[in-house]
Amino acid sequence: MIPPIASRFVAGETPAELLEHVRQLEDQGVRTICNRLGEHYEQPEPAIDDRDAYCDLLTDIDNAGLGACISVKPSQIGLGIGEETFRENLAIIVDRAATHEKFVWIDMEDHPTTDATLDAYADHATEYERVGVCIQANLKRTPEDLRRLADLPGKVRLVKGAYDEPAAIAHRKKPRVNEAYRDCLDFMFEEFDDGIAVGSHDPAMIEHATRRHEEFGTDFEIQMLMGVREEAQLELAEEYDVWQYAPYGGKWLSYFSRRAMERTENLTFALRAIVGQ
Ligand code: FAD
Repeated sequence: MIPPIASRFVAGETPAELLEHVRQLEDQGVRTICNRLGEHYEQPEPAIDDRDAYCDLLTDIDNAGLGACISVKPSQIGLGIGEETFRENLAIIVDRAATHEKFVWIDMEDHPTTDATLDAYADHATEYERVGVCIQANLKRTPEDLRRLADLPGKVRLVKGAYDEPAAIAHRKKPRVNEAYRDCLDFMFEEFDDGIAVGSHDPAMIEHATRRHEEFGTDFEIQMLMGVREEAQLELAEEYDVWQYAPYGGKWLSYFSRRAMERTENLTFALRAIVGQ
């Protein structure tokens, strides 16, 4: 059982706890992107375990009549072992998703994995309509990648980028990343037929997206993490399509520590939970 201190950011250790969270969110008009915590596997066994857990989860989501989807990290299903292992495991997950008509997101990790991730996504996107990939505005290559993605079916989640990338290939200053994010949004709203996901908690980026939506009419959705700006998630859901990215599983400690440390508000929340105030 997840201790109360971490349960703001993690939906539970078991699929049953996760699905209860999904149901509660759906009752409030927000749908869930389910992510099983796990990454950087160097051996096939944990990658196969997580692959199978995702397949079972897709079946459970369908059996429960819920509208949730999943989001998978490439290094969680074998990219660290080899591109072929990653592709095999992803194909098995996408196959199961197709059986249940569920959506599969592919998270984006650090820059050495970008090509393999985009190539695997491109293959699946042309075969199966319910697949999406994350792309990072901080990478200097992203405008070029977006041009390629604009010609494909499928959805693209734009994020600022969570990895500490070298200056040769990435914008590192916040204002420059924000500018790049806005430029990417402009391109996507103009050039994509639909399938835009705004993966950001930043009110300025969300407002920029809503203005572009009014201008171009292109559909979009907003995605935020569990435990971050949850009131805003509910408010935005009154007008827009909002999805909450909810992690679950046994490996919650390192994820929770990252969330707690990244912003003062989150740390204050965690400390209050410890001292019971
Ligand atoms: P920031 O630039 O961190 O902050 C901008 C503003 O947003 C702040 O000034 C504040 O107003 C508001 N804000 C931000 N955080 C908080 C908070 N905790 N509490 C209150 N207000 C806050 N990165 C990847 O590299 N690969 C992925 O696959 C990936 N998937 C993601 C999926 C989702 C659904 C989301 C939301 C993010 C994902 N990320 C991913 C992380 C992303 O790259 C950013 O690191 C992260 O979202 C922080 O950037 P931001 O745009 O949310 O806001």
